[in-house]
Amino acid sequence: MNRKIVKLQGFNIDTFSMDEACEYILENRGQVVTINPEIIELGKKNEDLKIIINSAELVIPDGIGVQIGLKILGYKVKRIPGIVFARKILENSVSNNLRVALIGSKPEIIEKTVEKLKVEIPGINIVFSHDGYFKDDEKLFNDVINSSPDIVFFALGAPRQEECIYSIKKSLPKAIMIGVGGSFDVWSGNVQRAPEIYQNLGLEWLYRTVKEPKRLKRIFPTLPKFIFSVIKESWGKTC
Ligand code: UDP
Repeated sequence: MNRKIVKLQGFNIDTFSMDEACEYILENRGQVVTINPEIIELGKKNEDLKIIINSAELVIPDGIGVQIGLKILGYKVKRIPGIVFARKILENSVSNNLRVALIGSKPEIIEKTVEKLKVEIPGINIVFSHDGYFKDDEKLFNDVINSSPDIVFFALGAPRQEECIYSIKKSLPKAIMIGVGGSFDVWSGNVQRAPEIYQNLGLEWLYRTVKEPKRLKRIFPTLPKFIFSVIKESWGKTC
């Protein structure tokens, strides 16, 4: 299977369906970025982050903002929620005999996440886990590499999780590595995902913002700024 990439604001985005994306990365391995308007806006100001994203082996459109942005440019692409994608990879790890490393979130959360995943995905082989508040990056990276994982999830928030993955990807060329944001908070049972109706309407961000108003600072003015830039990009395409 070959990648079918489109460009949004200078960033690569794959147009696979959820199942195709899953099949592609299980076969090809590498870094997966779950891209959203916030990361795009960060990447515009941070050339290193842009390089990381555009050299990732898979970039999935996580969230309604990117789906709308692509639609403005004339591409009909369905969003792939990163948390659902990452879970699917874990479920596939059992039949594929893959070793899993999980890094991120608060100590009690990662502990609970490991416990719950072992119950919910029988046979899962978690060979390494650590909270996300480590001070010595080099030591943590060496410990991850030495555990020889096939799947590595960093749940540190963007862009730190993407940077950590990029730092170790040369040492683990056969691993699937994903930055999974707040997924451990959900998998541990500590945070609830939005009710399905919000998810289906693409309004999970609204639900999370109402629950955690401090997110508002992150979303605004990023989202309107992003949409405005994409509209400008679409004018460039049609002129
Ligand atoms: N986190 C971490 N180390 C840090 C900062 C954050 O492990 O130094 C964790 C935090 O506990 C949370 C996750 O990173 O579990 C970030 O979640 P957020 O909801 O911000 O990510 P999003 O899903 O919005 O990308």
